[in-house]
Amino acid sequence: MEKKQIDWENLDFGYIRTERRFVTNYKDGAWDAGGLTEDANVVINECAGVLQYSQSCFEGLKAYTTEDGRIVTFRPDLNGQRMEDSCRRLEMPVYPREKFVDAVMQTVKANAAYVPPYGSGATLYIRPFMFASGPVIGVKPADEYQFRVFTTPVGPYFKGGVKPLTIRISDFDRAAPNGTGHIKAGLNYAMSLHAIVDAHKQGFDENMYLDAASHTKVEETGGANFIFITKDQKVVTPRSGSILPSITRRSLMYVAKEYLGLETEEREIYKEELADFAECGLCGTAAVISPVGKIVDHGTEICLPSGMADMGPVTKKLYDTLTGIQMGRIEAPEGWIQEIR
Ligand SMILES: *Cc1c(COP(=O)(O)O)cnc(C)c1O
Repeated sequence: MEKKQIDWENLDFGYIRTERRFVTNYKDGAWDAGGLTEDANVVINECAGVLQYSQSCFEGLKAYTTEDGRIVTFRPDLNGQRMEDSCRRLEMPVYPREKFVDAVMQTVKANAAYVPPYGSGATLYIRPFMFASGPVIGVKPADEYQFRVFTTPVGPYFKGGVKPLTIRISDFDRAAPNGTGHIKAGLNYAMSLHAIVDAHKQGFDENMYLDAASHTKVEETGGANFIFITKDQKVVTPRSGSILPSITRRSLMYVAKEYLGLETEEREIYKEELADFAECGLCGTAAVISPVGKIVDHGTEICLPSGMADMGPVTKKLYDTLTGIQMGRIEAPEGWIQEIR
């Protein structure tokens, strides 16, 4: 298979149309057989549920070329499970996780020429998503849906080196208790756009959202979970019912315990504790971990001891171990790596 002529090292995190995508439609209570198509456009009725009442959810994962030249994905079954959970909460039909994984594998295989080579730092981003395609005007779930998977090559996240982020504690809320914060709904992102545009205007890279009920506990950013390293090297992450359960964060907590022998803890984390941590990182598929150097709480700066020049030492070890597992340099736990054949 001949790779596409793409300047892999200089790709952004953006959309590049690749050759084929997977499409299946839900109608009369059942999913059709589905299959690959070259048509990148979706044609739907003006009254489609997704357009009127935002009934949609999505997933995000990556395909990598390993050191020995295999194409693999990382824990796609967990994305499939999470999409099932999202669908149930949004009254959308479930697309079973086994079929989800198969659709992901088929799509990556069909676009193998776009999977960046090992060592380029680039990856093939995979976007499975589902939306209500049937018309609704009275507020209710639609009768028809489409599930699609497309891929787009994306560049190295830390181009020109790691730069720790400066984030602010936001006065906006991301997710209500008993709301939709724990599922990957498009609507969670629509309403976070104002907060992130405002944060950027004020010179911050990201928003740290607190729990909406009391504004005392750390939740997450718009699209990444937090991990913190204590001064005695414990890895802690916030516990809350309104945080999106990041697969990267769950994998890092496992790596911390089982590969690095560190103590780990998932618990409520109060805003007052932030000044006591040694390191802080944002976890998600896009960057694996982005280190945070500074947290600003309404003018009060909390400077993490790891500083503004590099990742903290524990964050770096976690990052190197997880990316080593993903790229096939370090042996993966059973079932984490799914090879595309
Ligand atoms: C997708 C997402 C994450 C990261 O999850 P991963 O599975 O690690 O990519 C974190 N927070 C939110 C709100 C998200 O939507």
